Amino acid sequence: MILVTGATGQLGSIVVNELLKKIPASELAVLVRDENKAVAFKEQGVNVRVATYQDSAALNTALQGVEKLLLISSSDLNNRFEQHKNVVDAAKKTGIKHILYTGITMQNTATSPLKDFMSDHFRTEEYIQANGFTYTFLQNSLYAEVIPMFAGPQAVDTGIFFPAGEGKVSFVTRQDLGEAAANILATEGHENKTYQLTGAAAYSFADVASTLSSLANKPVSYTSPDPAAFEEALKGFGLPAEIIGMSLGFSAAIKHHDFEVTDTTLERLLGRQTTDLTSYLKAAYQL
Ligand code: NDP
Repeated sequence: MILVTGATGQLGSIVVNELLKKIPASELAVLVRDENKAVAFKEQGVNVRVATYQDSAALNTALQGVEKLLLISSSDLNNRFEQHKNVVDAAKKTGIKHILYTGITMQNTATSPLKDFMSDHFRTEEYIQANGFTYTFLQNSLYAEVIPMFAGPQAVDTGIFFPAGEGKVSFVTRQDLGEAAANILATEGHENKTYQLTGAAAYSFADVASTLSSLANKPVSYTSPDPAAFEEALKGFGLPAEIIGMSLGFSAAIKHHDFEVTDTTLERLLGRQTTDLTSYLKAAYQL
């Protein structure tokens, strides 16, 4: 039995839907915190287990009978490493042998403005290894889907105002990552491997603006403001402090060139080219 956590999330649901094309639903389980969001999976015959990452007792029941576990990193940032640790501890108790974990691909880790934030991923990987599991680490680059969040959904009309300087990102779509994770889960040969899963090339926000400009056939500007001016602008829009903090942290890390790693592993795992920036932007901005 394969179990996927975070299965009602954006990446997890892609993994489950892709897996259902490859293995019988009876061999697939999902861990969810809200059963109502998993009705469609249940109707297809997927085994639905309920627990939060905070609830060790529920995890110990939910992980019974599982051989391979895909732990999708939590989106709840409160004590995130502890949540992951609870899942790994429950996996040990229930006799799971192989854990796959979705982390991050980045460089300059020791000096990154996101060093503390990203340390949850590295600590989780270390904890899985230290506990003797067979592991597969899926180190995902930044999702292409963060572009509309950072550049704004109206970027074609407003231009892009984001303090990422000349930093580039090897953007990758959730669909490509989800399909690759399903391929890995459904096949052998991935034991004790660390995969850097990235787009084929890295792009700056100036590149994003110029690609939007070509697609829309009109000028789209890119301004990399001073971070303090950016913060004031976001405050002026009334955005919550958490969102402002995330935008500042990610823009600073991009400017610091932390997400520029490119690797061809994802293409190999997919058996096709990864989605390129132009195709992604065309669809996302409906151009
Ligand atoms: P989502 O927010 O769509 O999904 C997160 C999933 O985690 C959801 O299914 C959610 O449950 C579940 N979850 C959250 N907290 C808990 C908890 N305490 N106990 C059990 N389950 C929990 O994120 P994505 O699918 O887009 O991304 C997956 C992960 O990748 C994120 O959680 C985050 O760690 C990381 N990430 C990576 C990014 C990148 O660019 N590489 C960008 C953003 C996030 P529910 O469905 O009930 O909400």
